[in-house]
Amino acid sequence: MKRRTVVVLAFCGAFVLPACRAGARSAEQSASPAEGTSKSSNPEVRLDPSQLKQVRIEELSTFAPADVIKATGTVEFNADRMARILPPVPGQVQDLAVNAGDSVRKSDVLFVLRSREVAAAIADHLASHKDLELAEKTFAMTQDLFEHDAASRIAMQQSENELAKSRAKVEQTEEVLQVLGLDAHTEEDAAHLQSRVPVRAPIGGIVIERTVTNGQFVGPENTPLLVIADLSTVWVEAGVFERDLRHINAGQKADVTAAAYPNDHFNAQVARIGAVIDAQTRTAKVRFLVANPNARLKPGMYTSMTLYLPESSSSLTLPAKAVFVENSRTFAYVQTGPLAFSRREIETAAGSSDRLRVVRGLEPGDRVVADGVLLLRQLDSDTGGDR
Ligand SMILES: [Zn+2]
Repeated sequence: MKRRTVVVLAFCGAFVLPACRAGARSAEQSASPAEGTSKSSNPEVRLDPSQLKQVRIEELSTFAPADVIKATGTVEFNADRMARILPPVPGQVQDLAVNAGDSVRKSDVLFVLRSREVAAAIADHLASHKDLELAEKTFAMTQDLFEHDAASRIAMQQSENELAKSRAKVEQTEEVLQVLGLDAHTEEDAAHLQSRVPVRAPIGGIVIERTVTNGQFVGPENTPLLVIADLSTVWVEAGVFERDLRHINAGQKADVTAAAYPNDHFNAQVARIGAVIDAQTRTAKVRFLVANPNARLKPGMYTSMTLYLPESSSSLTLPAKAVFVENSRTFAYVQTGPLAFSRREIETAAGSSDRLRVVRGLEPGDRVVADGVLLLRQLDSDTGGDR
């Protein structure tokens, strides 16, 4: 059953498909017998299905990578997505529940600070409310007396002033609590008993540094107690040669591979181009912002960057291995039928290390033999003599 399929396929490839092309070819040949370079004047090479498996065919597209800039760099934390937790007030650290390496969500309570300052602020706030209550009562009473001619206008105005002052004082003490990170009215009652300030994570991420322990007293210092880093994106700083800088713009897309994950690609874009050239290496630091799903890229990892230049997106390229030179003419094999190929004379220009730019002779959609050119040339020379 299998053999029969093979026979049918071979039949189609050999006779049915090329039949009309063969007619066109002989007509053209007779029209310009001396020319010989016309692309359809080259005879077709036919493969059997097992030979077809030995060749790799690439359909040419304008999106094939042509001009690329390669650079290497190490993964770093995205400093724009890091939070350094400083003590909002002096106090004692309590209920510290996170360690370096733990992941936290935004607004999670990291620890609680027990603080005398907070106790004082809460007491002030409560006292201001009591004063306000009293001022309100006094004002209502004085107003009543004034209306019954039992109080002077001056006494009325004085109680009115007292009321305004008490209101301002309440607002002021509430502001102090807000600055300390307390919501004056939701945490008032519980916090007032213990003077505890919950310190929350300002961003979600991983705790990458912890310098504080439970029970420790912390003052108004500048050393962060905890550092949280959001690893959903990372930075890679790569050195790019001076001569390549003119091709690089912020926002340009790049591709990152890491030695740790040889088969995976991470999407990146140019975030910042350094302002100075290193005198030793003749490179500028280019910062890439790299998407890091599942935090797989770890700071310190070694990566390679590939930057595709914008002009390459409109130029057609083919693998250098697809090209061969015969009698100082350049050719590639183009697929003309399921099992049929024909050499085509082309002109190429230098591209990247393993691809050439097409100047003439091929178009997007052409299917060229990318691997296995030698086999086709062998068959070509075997059958070429018969024609
Ligand atoms: Zn209040």
